[in-house]
Amino acid sequence: MSELRWNPLLGEWVATATPRQERTFLPPADFCPLCPTRPGGFPTEVPEQDYDIVVFENRFPSLKSEPSDPVVEATELYEVRPGQGICEVVLYTPHHSATLADEPVEQIYKLVRVWTDRFRALDALPFVEYVFIFENKGEAIGVTLHHPHGQIYAIPFIPPRVGRELEQSLAHHQKTGRCLVCDIVGDERRDARRIVSENESFLAVVPFFARYPYEVHIYPTRHLQALSDMGDGEQRDLAEMLKMILVAYDRLFDLSFPYMMVVHGRPSDGANYDYYHFHIEFYPPLRTATKLKYLAGSESGAGVFINDTLAEEKAAELRERVQRVVWTGP
Ligand SMILES: [Zn+2]
Ligand SMILES: [Zn+2]
Ligand SMILES: [Zn+2]
Repeated sequence: MSELRWNPLLGEWVATATPRQERTFLPPADFCPLCPTRPGGFPTEVPEQDYDIVVFENRFPSLKSEPSDPVVEATELYEVRPGQGICEVVLYTPHHSATLADEPVEQIYKLVRVWTDRFRALDALPFVEYVFIFENKGEAIGVTLHHPHGQIYAIPFIPPRVGRELEQSLAHHQKTGRCLVCDIVGDERRDARRIVSENESFLAVVPFFARYPYEVHIYPTRHLQALSDMGDGEQRDLAEMLKMILVAYDRLFDLSFPYMMVVHGRPSDGANYDYYHFHIEFYPPLRTATKLKYLAGSESGAGVFINDTLAEEKAAELRERVQRVVWTGP
């Protein structure tokens, strides 16, 4: 069962997907469903002895390409629609105990190309209005499988958080004639205190308005709308930038740093979004090596994030831990 219920108070959809309660929860490493299938071993999601990067449809999806009818009827207040969409899982590597940070930059480059391929394919589907690429990493985030992987949701509406960014970007463009994120990139470069790392095509900052202590945004310096607008050089530069940020994260407290990583690009509904600027955001839940930031009353009930750190100081901590990544592949 998978349906979308309308929240008229906030004007947004909630996905209701009940079979997810039965999904696999932290299995022992010998029974990882995301590892290759060993000869004579139990069958995993990947019926191969080895693989490089694999994408497959989630067996416990929040959205389905052919959903059944909703179990409740709509009323005047409460709109209901089938939860039509696609949920994919992206396996980054066959190595169970690795993380994306451990992978060589060449593997991250392959992942960027896989994301781009999947974005193109899902972007073209008629019922898809948004292709959302993300990763939840670490038990602190509620991850149920440790094997390094990310997810892609092809969603039949524009998610509200992206909708907010689109509104703000459009308003800024109408007022100034300029792109909001291009202006942010300019301001961050002028100020420089919040820059974590920079390369030919990307700027990584702890944004001025960070909600999490170690929040990092990666902005392409060229005005692009989606992953699929990147050239090959930009794909390599993005892989290098991701590697630098991920390694800096792990070096912060000498532990495998948990985070949510989200890709924000233009919607897939066919409208014109030339005013929008594609980027990647990281939201790590750790405030210190042992303290988590909880989304408590203020954050959850009022939407007001309280960040008890300064972006300028946190950016300096991360910047000190950035190691230059050098491309060694072809
Ligand atoms: Zn595994
Ligand atoms: Zn721009
Ligand atoms: Zn964003």
